[in-house]
Amino acid sequence: MGTKLPLTGWSSVAIHGGHSAEPRHAHLTPIYASSTYVFDSAEQGMDRFTGKEPSYIYGRFGNPTITEAEEKIAALETFGLNIPAKAILHASGMGALATLFLANLKAGEKILTHFSLYGGTEELIHRVLKDLNIEAVITDLHDLAQAETHLKNDPAIRMVYLETPANPTLQCVDLEALISLAKQYGKKVACDNTFATPYLQQPFAYGADFIMHSTTKFLNGHGTAIGGVLIGTDIEFMKTIATKKHRLLGANSNGFDAFMLVQGMKTLEVRMERHCHNAMEVAHFLDTHPAIAKVNYTGLPQHPDHAIANKQMRHPGAMMSFELKKGLEGGMAFMNRLQMCVRAVSLGTCDTLLSHPASTTHFGVSKEEREKYGITDGLIRMSVGMESIQDILHDLDQALSTQ
Ligand SMILES: *Cc1c(COP(=O)(O)O)cnc(C)c1O
Repeated sequence: MGTKLPLTGWSSVAIHGGHSAEPRHAHLTPIYASSTYVFDSAEQGMDRFTGKEPSYIYGRFGNPTITEAEEKIAALETFGLNIPAKAILHASGMGALATLFLANLKAGEKILTHFSLYGGTEELIHRVLKDLNIEAVITDLHDLAQAETHLKNDPAIRMVYLETPANPTLQCVDLEALISLAKQYGKKVACDNTFATPYLQQPFAYGADFIMHSTTKFLNGHGTAIGGVLIGTDIEFMKTIATKKHRLLGANSNGFDAFMLVQGMKTLEVRMERHCHNAMEVAHFLDTHPAIAKVNYTGLPQHPDHAIANKQMRHPGAMMSFELKKGLEGGMAFMNRLQMCVRAVSLGTCDTLLSHPASTTHFGVSKEEREKYGITDGLIRMSVGMESIQDILHDLDQALSTQ
C-alpha cells in the first residue's frame, strides 16, 4: 500500500489499497504494455523463476498493473475481517471460473450447487466439466436439510458452489448456514459475488474459501473492459495450484483491462450507494405499476429471499427483474420504446441496462425449460444505473405507457 497510515474507511482502501510507488514517480500505476521482463544477470533469471526474488517474468504470469488490481480486490473482500487472501486476475469471469473448478476438482469428483446460476456458469458445468467427468449435483439450497443429505451421503462432493444474489430471479441463499454446513462435512465453498460486490456482501466473513467476480460488472463499473477474479484464503493453494492452472490455461488479464478496473474500483462505494438508492426508487415505482405482474427485488418485502438478503447484505443492490403482464410481445414492445435506458446485456455500468431474456439470452431455451427458472416471456432484467432518478423513472413510465 502507498500509505503507512492505517486505513480505517472502506473508500480509503478502495482508493489506496494495492497501490505501490512507481519507480518513475507516476501518480497512477501505468498500463504496463510489455510482454516480457528483463533479468540483469543469469543468476537473477534463476532467482525469479525459483521464486527467491518475487518479481515479474512474463506477461502471461502478471504485471504491475495487474498486481495493483489483484491486491485492491483482495483488500476489499477482506475489509475489516483480518483474513489473509490472494487474488488472481483473469481475462474474464469465465476464465476465473475455469481456474476455480480445474484447480479444485478431479475426474470423479462433484460440486453441489443450486438451480439459478449465471448462464455461462451453467454451460461451463454442463458442457465442459461434465465431459471431464466432474458432475454437478443441483438442488434447492433453500432447503438446508436436503443440502445436508447430499453433503452427508455423497463423499464425491468436494465443493459447494453458490451464487447469491443469482441471475435473473435475484434468488439468495443463506451464506452463513450453507457455509457452516459445508464446513461440517469438510467441503470447500466458492461464491460468485458479482451481483453484490464486496461493498454489499463479504462471503469470507462466513468462512467461504473462494470468491469469484466477473469484474466486467460493478467492479469495473463503466463497461470498459472484460475481466474476472478468483480470490482465495488458502494463500499456499492460490500461489501454487491455482497460479499454475491460471498460467497454463492462458486466462491472464492485461495492462489495459487491469488499469480500467483499478480506476473503477476506487469509486465503488460512492457508485454502489447511488446504484442502490436508484434501484430502491425504481422497485417501488414498478411495484405499483398496473402493467407489471411482478417485481423480483430482494429489497421488497414480498421477495421470498428478502430476509436472507437483509441478513447478509448491506443493501439489496441494483439488480432486479420484473414481469410484464403482456408477455413476449409486451416485453419486446417495452424494450423498443426505451429512449435513455440502454438495451444491452451485462450489468453494473453507470448507464441503466435492460435486457429481455426470452428474446435474447434465453431465446434458444424452450419456454418450459425457461419457466422452471422463472424466466417467463414478459420478464425484463434491469441493472439500475446512476443517472438522475427522475429520468430513469420517466423513461420507464413512457416505455410502459402502451402496455
Ligand atoms: C457476467 C457474469 C459472469 C461471467 O463473467 P464474464 O466476465 O462475462 O466472463 C459470471 N457470473 C455472473 C454472476 C455474471 O454476471
